[in-house]
Amino acid sequence: MKTIGLLGGMSWESSVLYEELINTAVRARLGGVNSADLIIRSYNFAEIEELQAIGDWDRAGELLAADALRLVAAGSDLIVLCTNTMHRVSDAIEAAIDVPFIHLADATAEAVKAKGLTTVGLLGTRFTMQEDFYRSRLESHGLTVLVPSEDEQTIVHDIIYNELVQGQLNRESREEYLDVIDRLSSRGAEGVIAGCTEIELLVSEDDVFVPFFATTQIHAEAAVQAAL
Ligand code: GLU
Repeated sequence: MKTIGLLGGMSWESSVLYEELINTAVRARLGGVNSADLIIRSYNFAEIEELQAIGDWDRAGELLAADALRLVAAGSDLIVLCTNTMHRVSDAIEAAIDVPFIHLADATAEAVKAKGLTTVGLLGTRFTMQEDFYRSRLESHGLTVLVPSEDEQTIVHDIIYNELVQGQLNRESREEYLDVIDRLSSRGAEGVIAGCTEIELLVSEDDVFVPFFATTQIHAEAAVQAAL
């Protein structure tokens, strides 16, 4: 089994879920007392969030690339970046390392295509919904991506930063997300990508009437497939 290097803590609320899902999948496949071989770099999210807020993506890329390199030096055979948003700097990370980087948007696009869908709604931070890095990666797989309106994006983004990454799960916020998903669906989304690793802590596929792509689950599964 290969050693998986996790760049996490963005936020730790979802990194915990990554660790659980990866270990559970390894146990399901190998049985007994088998568990995943992991090396985890967990940031103080406040430092990452500050770089996002001031738009210093170059600094963020340098930081994550340097730590990916440290994970490789420590024995990681592949690198998993446990956040959609920070894939904004995935090129810097991939350029720094000589082991596979399991790109979250690629794994997600494969999951969407495996369900036979071509048009998907995308929820996530404002960076993920508005900027090109994530949508264009999905589109490069032949998908059409719909994002919420400006006002809805504000709701989705604020709930992530003011609640989800702080460990708060509120019923009203779940309802707001479900309303946004309904509107994406009525605009033609055949499925919805929970393109923020904490969203699936709040909303599950059972809450939604269209196929729901939970990126932490998808990414964790892709990591396990690459490791075994
Ligand atoms: N974990 C979130 C994501 O998947 C948001 C936190 C962050 O900005 O990294 O995008």
